[in-house]
Amino acid sequence: YHAKQNKLGGSASSVFYAGMDAERLTRSALRSRIDQALNNRELEIWYQPVWNDDSGYFRRCEALLRWPGESISIQEVIDAAEESELILRLGEFVVDEVCSFLASVPSHQEDLSVSINISPVQFHYQNLEHLIKSSCERYKLDPKRLMIEITERTTIENAELAGKVLSALKQMGLDLALDDFGTGYSSLSTLHELEIDWIKIDRRFVQDIDTNQNSYQIVNALMRMAQALDIRVIAEGVETDQEYATLRSLGVRMMQGYYHARPMNQQQLLAFLKG
Ligand code: C2E
Ligand code: MG
Ligand code: MG
Ligand code: MG
Repeated sequence: YHAKQNKLGGSASSVFYAGMDAERLTRSALRSRIDQALNNRELEIWYQPVWNDDSGYFRRCEALLRWPGESISIQEVIDAAEESELILRLGEFVVDEVCSFLASVPSHQEDLSVSINISPVQFHYQNLEHLIKSSCERYKLDPKRLMIEITERTTIENAELAGKVLSALKQMGLDLALDDFGTGYSSLSTLHELEIDWIKIDRRFVQDIDTNQNSYQIVNALMRMAQALDIRVIAEGVETDQEYATLRSLGVRMMQGYYHARPMNQQQLLAFLKG
C-alpha cells in the first residue's frame, strides 16, 4: 500500500481508498486516511443526549467522533489512531470542537454539558490539563460544562499519572466518568481514590438485562455499590421500553441509548433540545 500511495501522491490516495473495501484497509493505510481527514476537516463531532429521569430533561450529552461518508467504525479509527501520534491530534480536535460548540449555544441552553472520551494514550503523551484549560480560556467556557470519560485501561496502564491528571481536572471543575463499567477490573478503592463522579454501565449488561439473570444481578449490585460510594450512574445502550422500565426499577435515573435519542449533529441537537 505504501509504495502505491507514494507513487500516486497525496491527492490520489483518496481515489485509491475509495476503490477498496474498508475492512481490508491496513492499519497504516487507515492512518494516512485519518491524517488526511484531519487536514481536510472531514471529521465531525456528534452528540448523544443523556436522559435524566428525575428532571425529565436532556441536559447532558456525550461527544462522539463521526466520519461522514466513511463506513468504517469509529472504534476502529480510534484503535488505529492510538498506535501513533494521530490520537493526540484527534484528541485536540475533539476538545476544540466541543468547546467551540458549547460556547456558541444559545443562552437559554447554557446549562448543557458535554462529556468527552479520552484515550489512555492522551494521558501519557499529552498535557491534558493544559489542553482543556487553554481551550476553555479561548472560548470563555466554564470547565464545569465538561465531563471526561475514561476507561479502566487508563487507570490500569499508568495509575499514578492518571491519578495526578484526573485530580488536576477535577480541581478545574470537571466531572469524571468511568466508561464501559463492568468490562474491566476496577476495584472499589480505585473508584474512590480517583474521585470518580459517574460510572457508565456498559451496554452489554443493559442489552440482556431482561433475559439474563446474571446481567440483572450485576446491575443490581452495581447500583447498591454506587449508592454506597455516592457515585452517580448512567446506563448505556438503552434500546427498549422494557429495558428502560427494568433499569428504573433498579434505581437507574440517567440513561443513554437509542430508546431516548441517537447521536446527532450540532444543529439537530439544538433543535432536539428545544422541542
Ligand atoms: P463509548 O464511549 O462507550 O460510546 C458509546 C457508544 O455506544 C457509541 O458508539 C454510541 O453511538 C453507541 N450507542 C449509544 N446508544 C446505543 C444504543 O442504544 N445501542 C447501540 N447499539 N449503541 C449505542 P460509537 O459512536 O460508535 O463509539 C464507539 C466508541 O469509540 C466509544 O464508546 C468510544 O470508546 C470511542 N470514541 C468515540 N468518540 C471518541 C472520541 O472522540 N475520542 C475517543 N478517544 N474515543 C472515542
Ligand atoms: Mg463514552
Ligand atoms: Mg461506553
Ligand atoms: Mg467503548
